[in-house]
Amino acid sequence: MSQIPEAAPSPLVPPPQAALRGNLPGPARPIVLTSHPGIGGQAARPVQWGAADPQRRGPVIATPGEGSRNAIGTHAGSYSLYRALAVAAGQLSAEHRPDLTNTRPAEPIGPFPQWAAPGKIVSLDPWGHMTTETFGAEIASGRDIRPSIAVTKAHINMPELTAAMRAGRLEPDGQVLGPNGDARVTKVAIEPVWWLPGVAERFGITENDLRRGLFEQTGGMFPELVTRPDLKTFLPPIGGMTVYLFGDPAKLGQEETRIACRIHDECNGSDVFGSDICTCRPYLAHGIEVCIEEAQRGGVGAIVYNRKEGRALGEVTKFLVYNARKRQEGGDRADRYFACTAGVAGVHDMRFQELMPDVLHWLGITRIDRLVSMSNMKYEPIVASGIEVVERVPIPEELIPPDAQVEMDAKKAAGYFTDKVPDAAELARIKGRGLQE
Ligand SMILES: [Zn+2]
Repeated sequence: MSQIPEAAPSPLVPPPQAALRGNLPGPARPIVLTSHPGIGGQAARPVQWGAADPQRRGPVIATPGEGSRNAIGTHAGSYSLYRALAVAAGQLSAEHRPDLTNTRPAEPIGPFPQWAAPGKIVSLDPWGHMTTETFGAEIASGRDIRPSIAVTKAHINMPELTAAMRAGRLEPDGQVLGPNGDARVTKVAIEPVWWLPGVAERFGITENDLRRGLFEQTGGMFPELVTRPDLKTFLPPIGGMTVYLFGDPAKLGQEETRIACRIHDECNGSDVFGSDICTCRPYLAHGIEVCIEEAQRGGVGAIVYNRKEGRALGEVTKFLVYNARKRQEGGDRADRYFACTAGVAGVHDMRFQELMPDVLHWLGITRIDRLVSMSNMKYEPIVASGIEVVERVPIPEELIPPDAQVEMDAKKAAGYFTDKVPDAAELARIKGRGLQE
């Protein structure tokens, strides 16, 4: 593509050929370009985003090769590239259709009024788990319509929970928490589905600027972003999220239900491997403890686990920053914490919490009684999106690993919820471990 539409989108003229042949060696097989309307099948039925009636809203169809595709990108987020590789390697038929028998949600979620409230949800498909029940007739007629959300049940068990039981902070009740420390959860996997006009509005930019940025900065990965202004739904190749619900999900959306919630952004090093440079796993475990408490009192606890590793900068950037922090003159200290990240990445953070409250609206939440987070970057968009926050629960001091004090103090100085903002002298004190220690 050499030309990008600058102004309001204008009707596009289809090219003379419906398909071009690739000039790669191998058997001749037409390459179907997706960049023009009406190519590769019948005209797509547009998505009426925000319509309260799912039939009028219509399905999001993003399967490659499906003639009625009405979205840019495809399913499975970043894993869509593995699917592409599997097809290219001859290990998966591109024609494979999922058998969705018995895959429906293990617990119903919604619908809630927020699903149709203008602008409340722009980064996930609120009907994404109800595909088979809502669009069963279309699927039976041959359309390849896939869920972007799946709801299942599990038991989870973490050493922090059994430690909390031994310490007498948690009591097993046989329902939410079993005697062996198993917590019963409903877990929900959610793939991102972006309504481009709504995402642009969230960031205060034009839809054209959003489309252009997404196209250019991915090396031109999705030409339809700039050639198909009629397609306004985009399934970006990024990580999604998992929601862990404690208590009865049927109580969601009811005014009287008390809600405990932690919004947690992935940190593999701490969450899984117990790395001590940050407070991620200890705070996550504390959030789960609070969620179990609330569920045992008849409320609902929700852990939202976002795949936004290293503040969505990725783990390579994150580890480069660790080295920069520990090797800088004067060592790792709180007053240089954000500068080191900005030096490598150009910004402090790329998590875009502007989109984060969508999942809370999807869950029908209008009030969070206990928000297990000190982050102002999370609190402010939640409240701005119309959700009341009653109490903010900080991480207990005894759960902060010594090497994580650098991060904690830097964040407190930058606006984290705390009653003890560290002063400049404290921030300048070296607190982190050296690289070789
Ligand atoms: Zn972390």
